[in-house]
Amino acid sequence: MAEEAWTIGKLLKWTEEYFTKAGIDTPRLDGEVLLCHVLNKERIHLYVHFDQPLTKAELAQFKDCIRQRVQHKPVAYIVGHKEFMGLDFNVTEDTLIPRPDTEILVEAVISRLQTGRENTGIIADIGTGTGAICLSLLNYLTTLRAVTVDVSEKAIAVARENAERLGLSERVEFFQGDLLEPIRGRKFTAIVSNPPYIPEGDIAGLDVDVKEYEPINALSAGTDGLDFYRRLVAEAADLLTEDGFLAMEVGIGQANPVKALGESHGWGQCEIIKDLAGIDRVVVLWKQK
Ligand code: SAM
Ligand code: GLN
Repeated sequence: MAEEAWTIGKLLKWTEEYFTKAGIDTPRLDGEVLLCHVLNKERIHLYVHFDQPLTKAELAQFKDCIRQRVQHKPVAYIVGHKEFMGLDFNVTEDTLIPRPDTEILVEAVISRLQTGRENTGIIADIGTGTGAICLSLLNYLTTLRAVTVDVSEKAIAVARENAERLGLSERVEFFQGDLLEPIRGRKFTAIVSNPPYIPEGDIAGLDVDVKEYEPINALSAGTDGLDFYRRLVAEAADLLTEDGFLAMEVGIGQANPVKALGESHGWGQCEIIKDLAGIDRVVVLWKQK
């Protein structure tokens, strides 16, 4: 008797059970995303082709994806891309995977750049990773220009690739270097950053998916997680136009300490914006008029 074929429906069911036993948080979703990757189809395709059998080559590739996922490699690194702000970004293990929380920062920056200005001008994105923040801003604000900085040359290469894929290369410059160092002497309407903010001592307690796979220099930020905010808050005002602002994503419990840093460095108004879970997620410091 011929071996029973692995159809899409059967494979999804099997994978969901296998991932559940392996302690994967979103077993059904991950199985679907990986299968879409192998078949090069949208998720809806799976549901209208439940009885479609996989070819031997597809099955082999899918098994390889499953093997990686049960070792807790994040789905985005297996498939090589991640959706953020409705756009598709290439990701590699040299870049942080863009998080939904960071969309709060992008939205806050869009609304502030659009209000009370004739020209959105030029912004700087510090610690750009995949370029998720600055490329989304450029995509939605069509007169905006941007410069980006990252300490990781490999991350810059991924961000450049994303700029090209999204057709945004002409409005963005890339610099490898330490925080504001490569762009000193210039002026920006806004400086935006999702810097590393995890206290060193908390790294060991992170999910395996994060601590074993995501770049440590995208996450770890000194003993209290505030190292990058100290430097940005101390140095960014000189690089802003008179109506400029510094907008930063912060970790849990960090908004008030960052606000206090702003007060001690003579910034003007401070805004704190919550994420969808009600956690203070973004701090905006306005340059003192
Ligand atoms: N902006 C991306 C996002 O939101 O998805 C990535 C954010 S990730 C939390 C922080 C980024 O800062 C990483 O890409 C890391 O390489 C970069 N970074 C770390 N230290 C830096 C430094 N001293 N100067 C510039 N970039 C730095
Ligand atoms: N949000 C990320 C995490 O908790 C941390 C990103 C960062 O340090 N900026 O995994």
